Order: sequence, then C-alpha cells, then structure tokens
Amino acid sequence: QAKHKGKSAFAHFAPEMTEVSHERLQMESRMRRALELEEFELYFQPIVHTDSGNLCSVEALLRWNNPSMGMVMPDRFIPLAEETGLIIPIGEWVLEEACKAAVSWKETAGRNIGISVNVSPRQFRDPGFTEAVMRALSASGLEADQLELEITERLILDNSIETAEILRQLDRSGIRLSVDDFGTGYSALSYLKSYPFDTLKIDKSFIQDVMKEPEDASLVRAIINMAHSLGLSVIAEGVEEEPQTHFLKQEGCDFCQGYFYSRPLPAKDFENWLKTNQRVQI
Ligand code: C2E
Ligand code: MG
Ligand code: MG
Ligand code: MG
Repeated sequence: QAKHKGKSAFAHFAPEMTEVSHERLQMESRMRRALELEEFELYFQPIVHTDSGNLCSVEALLRWNNPSMGMVMPDRFIPLAEETGLIIPIGEWVLEEACKAAVSWKETAGRNIGISVNVSPRQFRDPGFTEAVMRALSASGLEADQLELEITERLILDNSIETAEILRQLDRSGIRLSVDDFGTGYSALSYLKSYPFDTLKIDKSFIQDVMKEPEDASLVRAIINMAHSLGLSVIAEGVEEEPQTHFLKQEGCDFCQGYFYSRPLPAKDFENWLKTNQRVQI
C-alpha cells in the first residue's frame, strides 16, 4: 500500500522499519553469544508406533532460553539463524547434543532409541554439513541408523545435483532421511522416487481436522497409501486427540507424534517419561 502513496508514506513507515531492524540486530547479537552462554536447550518429543503406542524414536526440538527474552521458540529465531548463517554452528550443536542424548537413553530403555534432528536448507547446503553429521555420530558413538535427519520439501525444491548427491551420501552411510511437513511444500512428487527418503511426516495441518473434514481424511489416506507403495514409512504429526489415533491406526499409519502422547519435554522430564511409559518390546 505504501508505494502508491509516494514519498511521504515511505517516510511515515521509516521509523517502524528502523525499529524492526533494531530488534533484529539485537536478536542477532544475542544469538551470536547464545552458544557460549549455553542458552540453547533441546526438548524431546516421543514418536510412537501407532498400533501399540510404544516408543519408537524421539524428535529433538530446539529452544532458546534468553535472560531478557525468556524462552524463544524456533519459529521465532530459526529464520534469523538461517539468514545470518548462525544456523551452522547452532545446527552442529543440535546434532551433537541430540546424538549424545539418544546414546544416554539406551540404558534406561534397554534398547536403541532413534533420534530425529531437523535440518534447515542453509545448514544442509554448507560444505561441512556431512562431516558435521559424521562427527556427531562418532563423538557420541550413536549408530548411523539411529539418526534420522528431517528435511522439508522446500530444500528439495531446488532440484540441484548437489542436494541429490548429499542425500545419497547420507543414505549410503546408513543415516535415515525423512520429509518433514509433507504436503505443505508445493513440491512435485517426483522427488520421492529419485531421492533416498525413508519416512514421510504428514504435516499437522492435515491431521488437525482429520475427524471433521472428509477432504483431509482423504488426503491423509492417500498420502499413507502412496508412501507405502513407494516403500516409505509414515509419521502423523500433531496428533492431539484419541479419535485421530483410531483413524490413523485404521489407515495403517506407522507412527504418531503429538500432544496426545506427549508434548516436547526437557531432557530430565523426557527421561522420566521414558521410565514410566516405556513398555517392553518384542
Ligand atoms: P517440526 O519439525 O515440524 O516440529 C514439529 C512442531 O510441532 C514442533 O514445534 C512441536 O512442538 C509441534 N507439535 C508437536 N506435537 C504437536 C501437536 O500435537 N499439536 C501442535 N499444534 N503442535 C505440535 P516447535 O518445537 O515449535 O518447532 C517448530 C519448528 O521449528 C519445527 O517444526 C522445525 O521446523 C523447527 N525446528 C525445531 N528445532 C529445530 C532445530 O534444531 N533445527 C532446525 N533447523 N529447525 C528446528
Ligand atoms: Mg521436524
Ligand atoms: Mg536410507
Ligand atoms: Mg513438521
């Protein structure tokens, strides 16, 4: 709108823009120190087998505890971390901490528990990325097939040879790959047959209304069938209510994640959850 009103309108908006960029600069400088001040924390959310409700793996979700801003959620700071490139050191920290955590749960659980880590495009395209992943594995002693990297369709959209090559390299080393927020990326589906993905995570926006909107139910059903016929397993994200679990069970969705099972939890709380909720698997 401002551009139709000429210079005076722009002048009117200028102070606001300055304010916004000041806020950004302040956040950026705080973020630069956040790693060394140990302000980042991983929360962990269980991913369970739909049929049994047993724990399968865990997604690591980043939180930023800043003294002046309180707890900052990833949607508020990941975009800026990407723009500034800070996502690269932060992402390395996430990988290392997540792998270490997964190894530490082995004893409590009496078996392997996989860990899923979100990877943003800038981080993925960094030339040091695969090395950072390998370092996190060897430093923690986590087996490669216990690590799953979650990538959004946004990343695949670029269709570059480099992206394909890195995905293949990760796949060859035994790491699992999943498509996060599936269905929201406006991407052609053809990448699913050419890239070595293991898992589709159906975006929570489809799951939310699955009991109310027949169209959403149809989409979820179609996604599950398509994924299975391509040899991919399926995780439903954002499962909040019991009826959704019955629907997903009936449709053969392999895994579920959502508040119905557990919110993302700090490490201590997750360990307690593990002790009380983990059932023996045969
Ligand atoms: P995501 O990877 O799709 O993660 C799932 C998000 O859904 C998480 O939000 C989680 O708390 C939320 N969620 C889980 N169950 C439910 C539910 O039943 N209902 C609803 N309404 N929400 C649910 P969170 O933790 O705020 O993370 C938001 C996004 O930030 C993530 O979406 C991911 O894209 C990004 N993110 C989080 N941690 C990292 C990280 O370490 N690195 C990168 N690059 N991105 C991250
Ligand atoms: Mg994710
Ligand atoms: Mg694979
Ligand atoms: Mg998601």
